[in-house]
Amino acid sequence: MEKNKNVFDNVLQLIGSTPLIKLNKMTANFDGEYYAKVEAFNPGHSSKDRIALHIIEEAERQGILNPGDTIIETTSGNTGFSIAMVSIIKGYECILAVSSKSSADKIDMLKSMGAKVYVCPAHVKADDPRSYYQVAKRLHEEIKGSIYINQYFNQLNIDAHYNTTGPEIWDQTNGEITHLVACSGTGGTISGISKYLKEQNPNIKVIGVDAYGSVLKKYHETREFDDKEIYPYRIEGLGKNLIPTATDFDLIDKFVKVTDEQSAHTAREVSNTEGLFVGYTSGAAMQALKQLEAEGEFSPSDKVVVIFPDHGSRYMSKVYSDKWMEDQGFFDSKTATVSTIEYIK
Ligand code: PMP
Repeated sequence: MEKNKNVFDNVLQLIGSTPLIKLNKMTANFDGEYYAKVEAFNPGHSSKDRIALHIIEEAERQGILNPGDTIIETTSGNTGFSIAMVSIIKGYECILAVSSKSSADKIDMLKSMGAKVYVCPAHVKADDPRSYYQVAKRLHEEIKGSIYINQYFNQLNIDAHYNTTGPEIWDQTNGEITHLVACSGTGGTISGISKYLKEQNPNIKVIGVDAYGSVLKKYHETREFDDKEIYPYRIEGLGKNLIPTATDFDLIDKFVKVTDEQSAHTAREVSNTEGLFVGYTSGAAMQALKQLEAEGEFSPSDKVVVIFPDHGSRYMSKVYSDKWMEDQGFFDSKTATVSTIEYIK
């Protein structure tokens, strides 16, 4: 068939080139213009499609991945989904070690995409043999013909965003971007985009979003790993209990910390005001943006890009569940929602 503009050989050709969408209502009273890079428009519904494709194709180019081999990864869910999707198209086995903190929605989705899933306890140290890092490492040692993507310590994670997300944002803003606000987990997104943008214009300010309970902000400020900073928190995919080498701390100007509770409410607010059904860390990024604005970070001529990493449908049993919100103590008399579902009997 002759190629039509909107016809593709397979789903992988749809990865990247996500839209930049202007935020209107939530930022109406803020100085500057605000745009969201909405990564849920990737076919696997998150930014992780980019790294899965890039890392797997690089392994193929280097000849370390052959047909029928097994791809292993540690993941909060999104990277796993993207790897499972790429594996289906390219004919690889996929094994994923997931933290028990990941939403049930995400874990079921991985299984639905044909992956073998190991759910590992969330609140153990990274060097504990039960942690998802150690489980993935052990499986990689045991399984012949396997590769371990290891996104936290893989330079290709940064490169994927340097090659695609960074140039897209530069083009989409006609080079007028002044600030980037992005969550940091592995750090691949923020570091890769920052590297590209700062090469174009070193004055662009890059602000990372971290969670209370994570070591990243303190490490950025002091270059000291302080395990007193570590305690359990609920947001998935943001912050860390170790220092990933996929984060280039020199490319990040500062970090902002956000709470589980405010991020959850802000995710709901983005959905209900901008009509963008976003995930928990998009709420976190937007919450950071609110805090930065309140601190006077932005001026009227600024053009701010915030990354929304994934889609709200992955959090139906969490942020978008009234029961879950209530169980966390996130609803008070001010924020409690009235159910808008009516059952006709
Ligand atoms: N948001 C979500 C939902 C994620 O899964 C991740 C990845 N862990 C991030 C944000 C952070 O992206 P990165 O790993 O590139 O720092």
